[in-house]
Amino acid sequence: MGANRHMSVDPRGRYTPEAMGEAVPGSDDPAGSRSHNLLSTRRASLMQEPVLVLNATYEPINVTAVRRAMVLMLKGVAQAEEMHNTEVHSAAHAHKVPSVIRLLAYRHIPQQSRALSRKNILLRDRNTCQFCIRVFPSSELTLDHVVPRSRGGRSTWENLVACCYRCNNNKGDRTPEEAGLKLARRPRPFTLHTSRQLMRLIGHRDERWRKYLFY
Ligand SMILES: [Zn+2]
Repeated sequence: MGANRHMSVDPRGRYTPEAMGEAVPGSDDPAGSRSHNLLSTRRASLMQEPVLVLNATYEPINVTAVRRAMVLMLKGVAQAEEMHNTEVHSAAHAHKVPSVIRLLAYRHIPQQSRALSRKNILLRDRNTCQFCIRVFPSSELTLDHVVPRSRGGRSTWENLVACCYRCNNNKGDRTPEEAGLKLARRPRPFTLHTSRQLMRLIGHRDERWRKYLFY
């Protein structure tokens, strides 16, 4: 949570979900029957549903995925405040799926911008390719250096945007101007304000979040 993860790139210089160690639906499937794969894919996508994270004081501080939220609960770091009406089954147990969790110990959240990570850039850009302005699942987005690294472009909030593979291939090693592409908006750092706005946006999908976000 907020930890700055090391960013990895594939040989073409693109950031990939696999390189970031993020779960991709179906990627942890063992080879098996078609129905087994279907079930696991559904479960994998459930495990990536957003969960609102509250501080010990009930202040909303973050959004995480079900998978991570359940790890925090199992470790005794957080407890569930709101649940989905769904369960996931492990070998011996059925676990209710959390929608809102609360940290048991107060965590100081610095007011400055959040860690530069693939996840946060996709959040900031709302999973929207900043060139074709279409929304994609995280697994179908990469990060594009607006000014290519080969031209001295740096890995900063202002120079990294969410980008679909098609636009990324199309743009290649060119600037948006050279490629005849236009940015949807100027990329900015992710502030606490952006973060709150996003939590509210995501919160519209889940009634259980409302009382923590709309006060
Ligand atoms: Zn695109």
